[in-house]
Amino acid sequence: MSKVIAIANQKGGVGKTTTTVNLGIGLVSEGKKVLLIDCDAQGSLTESLGYQNPDNINITLSSLMQKAIEEQPITDSEGILHHKEGVDLVPANIELSGMETALVNIMNRERALKSYIDTVKNKYDYVLIDCTPSLGMLTINSLAAADEVIIPVQAHYLPAKGLQQLITTVSKVKRQINPNLKIGGILLTMVDKRTNYAKDIARVIRMNYAKHLTIYKTEIPLSIKAAETSAVGKSIYEYDKSGKAAEAYREFTKEVLDSGKQRNKHKSEYIR
Ligand code: ATP
Ligand code: MG
Repeated sequence: MSKVIAIANQKGGVGKTTTTVNLGIGLVSEGKKVLLIDCDAQGSLTESLGYQNPDNINITLSSLMQKAIEEQPITDSEGILHHKEGVDLVPANIELSGMETALVNIMNRERALKSYIDTVKNKYDYVLIDCTPSLGMLTINSLAAADEVIIPVQAHYLPAKGLQQLITTVSKVKRQINPNLKIGGILLTMVDKRTNYAKDIARVIRMNYAKHLTIYKTEIPLSIKAAETSAVGKSIYEYDKSGKAAEAYREFTKEVLDSGKQRNKHKSEYIR
């Protein structure tokens, strides 16, 4: 059974793409078959896996969704790129920005991405969707296609309002479109362990949300090496394998693998 996980937060720059890459490749090193889907017209996931000019790629998520919408056949592995660290990728580029508006006028507009994912997911243990920083149609499509959503939160500020809005959206999608959707948990990212401020924020987030939602035990540290990986097209495990960020993403990967087994029923049912 494959599991589809959306990595979402409408706030920009919180570590969605970095988490998608390093959770994805982390799962590969645990023996899983993984497909990453770039669902952001910025193409940052595509770029951070080393495809420097996403705009020159012909077959992308946009064209594959278009085919799924038009019920045209999609050939085996069509458009899927194979990264040397073992992960597969559906790339994206600027064309996806047209999809956001095109979706408004089609039948079953919330399920276009799901229709595409349903054609490929049987080949994978995990499909991870790197969401765009908005709560528009592409993110709704990602939530409609997902079994679970992981929410990276940058431990630099108190995210109260934005986070609540995201949780409300997830609940709405669960009620109206995808009853199976769960919040996997909140992942604290870019935690600067040297400052009391970051530690305080991490503590406040845990205090406010841990009663209702899973907050992953692992915190991703602020790391220059992690920031550099996107430019080199490699995961943190290749780029700085014994560094703190690599260690944290390894731990986080294990938590995600374990969470399926020991999910806290009370928390997973919090969103209704
Ligand atoms: P967007 O909303 O634009 O899609 P995002 O949520 O996907 O952004 P990333 O692109 O993963 O966020 O990260 C934002 C920036 O922070 C990038 O420049 C990235 O290299 C950097 N970054 C990510 N994780 C860390 C980290 N642990 N420590 C320091 N910098 C990081
Ligand atoms: Mg991103």
